[in-house]
Amino acid sequence: MKQINGKIALVTGSSRGIGRAIAIKLAGEGAFTYINYCKSGDAARQTLQLITEKGGKGKLSRFDVAHFEEARKAIKAIADEKGRIDILVNNAGMTIDGLFARVKEEHWDTIIGTNLKGTFNCCRAATRQMMKQRWGRIVNMTSVVAESGNAGQVCYSASKAGIVGLTKSLARELASRNITVNAVAPGFIETDMTLSVTEEMRDKIIEEIPLGRVGTPEDVAGVVAFLVSGAADYITGQIIRVNGGIYM
Ligand code: NAP
Repeated sequence: MKQINGKIALVTGSSRGIGRAIAIKLAGEGAFTYINYCKSGDAARQTLQLITEKGGKGKLSRFDVAHFEEARKAIKAIADEKGRIDILVNNAGMTIDGLFARVKEEHWDTIIGTNLKGTFNCCRAATRQMMKQRWGRIVNMTSVVAESGNAGQVCYSASKAGIVGLTKSLARELASRNITVNAVAPGFIETDMTLSVTEEMRDKIIEEIPLGRVGTPEDVAGVVAFLVSGAADYITGQIIRVNGGIYM
């Protein structure tokens, strides 16, 4: 029996990386899955193809999560088209790394705008429908660095720590409507985002990971699928670490 058969899901930033793995997993578990992307149209179409090849169902939804009105309209269009929206995974994210002394004001604005405000924008739009239907599952993507901090990632880790606060407060507000809100905090996951890490740095990081390897997008996708399934009905306001033990 598929875990989330017939549910309507939206995964932001699912053209590539972790988001793509989540979209494939949710569609594989039976959800009609909207694949959001901003710039990578070809990659998003590939995600959809990977889903349909396995017998899953989905559709593309292009919008910039950082843009309040764009996100509102796109998410309303999904709710109007399907009559509901059950699952929202706020995965879209980006980073511009660099030492604090060199961080520009626009770096802060772009990172906070995409990661933190983007999560706010999508939650705001989707919860209108979820509150009406009195059911919803929201999973937000934070990061190990929200808790551990990381030199060179002041803006990024602040955006991800903000997501932790947003998740816990929203979980408290929406629990009475049967909407759960949780976050997943990955460690080092092999995607485009971590491509700039040199072989030498990667080896050093692996030495610090008790499980002795970096993570895969599928390692994260499995946990997201659990959080939106019936097995997690009594879990809300939690931050689930998926990091091979690098931070406990
Ligand atoms: P990635 O490979 O760089 O993919 C990022 C995704 O986000 C792409 O699909 C991109 O879509 C989308 N995106 C970026 N800005 C967007 C915007 N304004 N509107 C809509 N979509 C946007 O990154 P990833 O490694 O899979 O990361 C996914 C999430 O996990 C992020 O939130 C990241 O912070 C978090 N995370 C990653 C790691 C890691 O080690 N990789 C660790 C902890 C947390 P387009 O290309 O179409 O614009």
